[in-house]
Amino acid sequence: MSTKVFSLILLPTLQCNADCDYCFEVKTNDRLSLERLQELIDKVLDHLVEQDIAGLMIHWQGGEAMTLPPSWFARAQALIAAAAAARGRSVTHGLQTNMIGYSPKWNPVIREMFDNNVSTSLDYPNLYRRRRGQDAADYNAVWTRKVRLARAAGIEVGVIAVPNAATLELGAERFYRHFVDELGIRSFQVNTPFPGGESNQAKGLLPTGSAALIGFYIDLAEVWLARGERDGVRVGPFDELLAYFSGTPTVLPCIWTDDCANHILCIDARGHVAQCDCWVTSYPDYRFGNIFECASLSELLAASAVVERFHQRPMALVARDCIACDYLALCHGGCPVRAFSVHGTLFEKDPHCALYQALFGHLAGAAARQARASAAHSSGASGGGRGE
Ligand code: SF4
Ligand code: SF4
Ligand code: SF4
Repeated sequence: MSTKVFSLILLPTLQCNADCDYCFEVKTNDRLSLERLQELIDKVLDHLVEQDIAGLMIHWQGGEAMTLPPSWFARAQALIAAAAAARGRSVTHGLQTNMIGYSPKWNPVIREMFDNNVSTSLDYPNLYRRRRGQDAADYNAVWTRKVRLARAAGIEVGVIAVPNAATLELGAERFYRHFVDELGIRSFQVNTPFPGGESNQAKGLLPTGSAALIGFYIDLAEVWLARGERDGVRVGPFDELLAYFSGTPTVLPCIWTDDCANHILCIDARGHVAQCDCWVTSYPDYRFGNIFECASLSELLAASAVVERFHQRPMALVARDCIACDYLALCHGGCPVRAFSVHGTLFEKDPHCALYQALFGHLAGAAARQARASAAHSSGASGGGRGE
């Protein structure tokens, strides 16, 4: 059996207790029953057996995952473990939550199912995240209280942040200080913005492909290299890129995989199957099919013309746009949904191309400098030894 791990983004509910202005999901009241979860997971695991894939990583998202009760997750974990054991597969779980519904009654399931880790989202400054009928300040206050409560219970909280126009004005140093020094976050990831789903004013203001966004990312990389790396703070995608250019094994974000359709799949509470969460809820024409209406997931994927278009994208971009790029083997044309949300087609390169090139060059330079410093230190140390 291969050692490969397949990622499943699972949306067991499409309900959310928030109403963020830039949300790319169309929310509904649909929830996945445990009976349907059994059918879904049996088909996913059978697909893994057919593809000779050893492991499954389930990324639980929503809507908002914590609109389901923790007891639902405990029963889901047991059901999935039994189905995986029957097929000789291993399954691990990750939880993405806005933390608004968190209370200590979640602690046992977070410990048992999610290895005492959660990933959540907050921007700085927060312009777009809010609870229904409330403002961003209310969201910040509730989020901060819940995150502090979780951390006090020993839960590791990672944060995903999306820069907005005000973030760029504030600058990288202030942004880093807020997360690390003021909130005590030791691991966060800065995602590139994209106007996914139905357009609105907030999405129109997201910085996509601007010189200011590139400057912000490069400055933040410098802040992290100067402070965070030494202090053991992880900031994605800088830590992954530094490892990549240093020749250290790492897992790069999905936006830079060779063909995300080979490694990742998303299924929502209604059984719709698509590439990832934005596709499954907001672009119905780009769904691969429905897991509850097929005999086998392998057959569904093999018969889908949409899957085939995803597979064709990297080669099409190589032939046309990316052939001369020094980072082709790393980037593969970037993220399909970022390209689609800006250009309306899969067959354009990622709109953050210039940012990626600047980042790759910057982190490659940092890795080379670190390698030279380490070599000089070793030769200095051994030279000193010889002289004594
Ligand atoms: S961005 Fe997330 S938390 Fe906000 S409304 Fe959308 S699903 Fe809910
Ligand atoms: S479309 Fe983009 S975000 Fe979605 S899985 Fe592919 S690379 Fe990741
Ligand atoms: S950095 Fe730009 S040109 Fe290079 S592979 Fe990525 S999208 Fe293509």
